[in-house]
Amino acid sequence: MSPSPLPLKGQSTQSFWRSNLHALDNHRSTPDLPSSADIVIIGAGYAGASTVHHILELCKSKNLPIPSIVILEAREACSGAAGRNGGHLKPDPYNRPTKIAATHGIEAAAELAEFEASHIPAVKKLVEEESIDCDFVLTRCVDVLWTNDIMAKMKDGVDLLRKHKVSVMSDVHFASGAQAEQLSGVRGAKACFTYTAAHLYPYKLILHLLSKAVDAEVNLQTHTPVISTSKTPDPDGLLTITTPRGSIKAPKVVYATNAYTSAILPEFTSKIVPVRGICSHIVAKSSPAPLLPNSYILRAGTVEYEYLIPRPDGSIIVGGARSKYYSNLDDWYNNVEDSKLIDKTRHHFDGYMQKHFHGWENSGAETSKIWTGIMGYSSDGLPHVGKVPGRDNQFIIAGFTGHGMPQAFLSAKGIASMVMEGTAFKNTGIPRVFQASQERLDDRKNVILEEWEASQKAPVEAKL
Ligand SMILES: Cc1cc2nc3c(=O)[nH]c(=O)nc-3n(C[C@H](O)[C@H](O)[C@H](O)COP(=O)(O)OP(=O)(O)OC[C@H]3O[C@@H](n4cnc5c(N)ncnc54)[C@H](O)[C@@H]3O)c2cc1C
Repeated sequence: MSPSPLPLKGQSTQSFWRSNLHALDNHRSTPDLPSSADIVIIGAGYAGASTVHHILELCKSKNLPIPSIVILEAREACSGAAGRNGGHLKPDPYNRPTKIAATHGIEAAAELAEFEASHIPAVKKLVEEESIDCDFVLTRCVDVLWTNDIMAKMKDGVDLLRKHKVSVMSDVHFASGAQAEQLSGVRGAKACFTYTAAHLYPYKLILHLLSKAVDAEVNLQTHTPVISTSKTPDPDGLLTITTPRGSIKAPKVVYATNAYTSAILPEFTSKIVPVRGICSHIVAKSSPAPLLPNSYILRAGTVEYEYLIPRPDGSIIVGGARSKYYSNLDDWYNNVEDSKLIDKTRHHFDGYMQKHFHGWENSGAETSKIWTGIMGYSSDGLPHVGKVPGRDNQFIIAGFTGHGMPQAFLSAKGIASMVMEGTAFKNTGIPRVFQASQERLDDRKNVILEEWEASQKAPVEAKL
């Protein structure tokens, strides 16, 4: 596999979130790049914006001088995955943790589940304290299980975590049979789990963080792709970060580059791989739209699932459509094409609410928008966070594998502390399984491809 290309130039498919742009979308704080900075952050998505937020918060709380920070963004602010996702801040209490229990032990699994759950109060607090207008809603996610197979698999995991008294299990409720269909409102639900989750308008949250950073004199430079960084510092301890607009010398650099990481950190080739995802916005014609008080995962199998949030205006964001393209690996894996839809998905969400949700039959709900976004899938399904192996004073927070909303904000808090105070990874509160390491780079296993190969051998009838 070759390293990822840089983010593509030109027009991406427009997401619902990016249909009304912020004044900073194409911002450049200064006409030219500064020649030096204390810290360069590459990427102005959720991870980059959260990192700068936590650096500023740390300076405030410890009365430290604010370092000079430059954020370099290849395209517009928040134009990557964070500007085109499902807006679902949904911790995963049992699915990934069960897999981690098998590979890394129950303590690591509990740590991951608790870390993800802690994003809900952390983001809620941020939104409330800073009065951020980003449609934040605290809710319960209903994880609908459509087949006996997937129900048994999920239930086994939950039972294991309960047996080991993993604390987040106290928030997980299970229902099956007729009760599951009644509770979820989803036709044919065999069972469901529910647990605390949230949803929001990601672009507004991230632009708020970037706007606050710019007010604090952080230099934001959009349309400035980094094409290389030096591996080792020069005799003055400075790294060179090179862009087509000139280079910057800085002692520290943070890669918040998600899918595109290997374009400038080639050692991450095949470890963080760009993956296309599809998301849509559905609007009901009836007014008011039928009530949908929860957010959802609809699962027909291990790799066949979709995610859905209701918006405060009654419209719906739903992402997935995998049943239309997953079998053709080239359509989605190692692919950075977000200027086009995967054509087979174009009509996937038409009639979706009417088909799956009780009460929506006469809603006239229609797809109003459908778009593509590029996720950074890591080969072991976990983000790489911490020091870049073999590169002094270089830090990474990337590879969120389509699930960054309940992982990146507090990972960024840990990164801020590592960058500013030299905190050791183990004292940051970031789950141990996220730690970037040479061992993970050397591991040849690829769980994403293994899952895909298994699904090709035993295809299930498409439900979604
Ligand atoms: C369709 C879709 C639906 C999703 N739904 C959800 C969801 O509902 N819930 C959830 O938890 N997660 C979801 N995700 C995943 C989630 O959006 C990501 O995990 C999260 O946004 C990652 O944030 P990030 O800042 O790491 O990456 P990004 O938002 O992609 O930001 C990385 C930024 O770095 C920039 N960049 C990269 N390389 C360079 C370079 N060399 N020079 C300069 N800039 C560079 C990119 O242009 C980009 O702006 C979804 C993703 C997609 C695509």
